[in-house]
Amino acid sequence: MDVTAAPPAALEGPQLRFLRCAWCTTALFRPHLLCPTCGGGRLRSQVSAGAGRIHTWLKIAIKGHAAREAAVVELDEGFRV
Ligand SMILES: [Zn+2]
Repeated sequence: MDVTAAPPAALEGPQLRFLRCAWCTTALFRPHLLCPTCGGGRLRSQVSAGAGRIHTWLKIAIKGHAAREAAVVELDEGFRV
């Protein structure tokens, strides 16, 4: 038994997956059939490290409801969530 092997993906917890174009390396968060930058069809699924910075932040206040906050985060891999 190899004790240094990584645990199966199902045991690692949630993952933030994205697509990266094999031709121009553009990162895409939403599903695409073709790369919107170069039109290439070789999009590979990758897992984000989860690190990035807040691009935009806003507070939503609706009368009679608790305020909510929302943010757009730009991940180090080059896409926004
Ligand atoms: Zn591309």
